[in-house]
Amino acid sequence: MSEVVDRWVEALQGKLAPIGTMTHWQRLEAAFHGRPSDLVPVAPELDYWQIVYAGYTHPEIYNDVDKTTDACLKTWADLRTDAIWMYVDISHQIEGFVPKEERAEKFILRGDKDYLLFKPLAHTLDEAIALFEDRVWEKYGGDSRAVTHYTPHMLQLLEFQEKMGRQVPVIVGAATPTNQAETVVEVQEFVKWMITEPEAKVRHFLELCLQERLEALDFYRDFGYANGLRFFCCFGGARTWGPKQLAQFADVDARFVEKAASIFPNVLWHICGHNLPEAMQWVGAQEGIHAVQYDMPYYTQTLSWREWCESIARLYAGKKCACNAPTTQLACYGTPAEVEVAAQEFIEATLPHTTAVVMPGCEIDAYAPAENVRAMIAAARRYSGGA
Ligand SMILES: [Zn+2]
Repeated sequence: MSEVVDRWVEALQGKLAPIGTMTHWQRLEAAFHGRPSDLVPVAPELDYWQIVYAGYTHPEIYNDVDKTTDACLKTWADLRTDAIWMYVDISHQIEGFVPKEERAEKFILRGDKDYLLFKPLAHTLDEAIALFEDRVWEKYGGDSRAVTHYTPHMLQLLEFQEKMGRQVPVIVGAATPTNQAETVVEVQEFVKWMITEPEAKVRHFLELCLQERLEALDFYRDFGYANGLRFFCCFGGARTWGPKQLAQFADVDARFVEKAASIFPNVLWHICGHNLPEAMQWVGAQEGIHAVQYDMPYYTQTLSWREWCESIARLYAGKKCACNAPTTQLACYGTPAEVEVAAQEFIEATLPHTTAVVMPGCEIDAYAPAENVRAMIAAARRYSGGA
């Protein structure tokens, strides 16, 4: 079907040296479900890092599906991580809310290695509500990058996954309702409105976001699951979550997870934003979530790295797979030796209590050195004792 996929399948099929005694797929699936695996899986979220690693620039791949897919497959062939994360950027998520002629000034491609920036879609809560009540994506979404870039890229990676006999899973993710709400209006605005606007109005906006996101899950079922997708990541809202907001509004994300888990057998929750203790507990209580990608201690907590990892492993014992290490910051700015120590400590602190996946809490920055990514992979392969 796809020439770029067939080229890679031909180059790799039957020629890959085994790593451990399980396939990448078996290893990650076992960890997600609390079962022993031969090695601790390692699955850093490489989404746009792999573009740079493969020698492309962002402007070059922005409208080129084949090059985007080629970058992911080249990176996987080199590094042999236990999952392939698809490339994703913010325009995939929200370009469908913007009329074609306004897109050029809404999205800003800064440089070859820089992540895409965007301007908020709404400046008041009323404007934001209107976007969803009017279902603007039905009017503008047809030629958006969700359709022209994201979907064909996802289908190519799934084609690779299936043609390779499910040796390695592709992870595809989507924003939860809270994350979508935060993105559409910008985090700092939404934080303010959660306090200054009537609760019923904020609730109405979030319910609209939930509806739109539940419909998005129908897309992931019909185009993802139907083509082999089994590992699904929920990019959870947390940038606006304090204990009060969590108690007031987190149920919209819970309903999203419930539906995601009714479609996909392996559900990962990505905590985007603060690792608030109450949020860590809330995620732990959601039955549809199998694995949790978290990052650094909340700023009020004075824990060493090892203590932090151990506290989360205890919290998730018997319930969730813990995914972390090194921190997103360290992955970009640390040395390979520091990266290795952080991954080792995470593994050692986690395995006595629950399963672990080496996976920094957020996507790997495009400026992160390749040696650091190699160091986290090597650490996972080396410190798997007891798994
Ligand atoms: Zn994140």
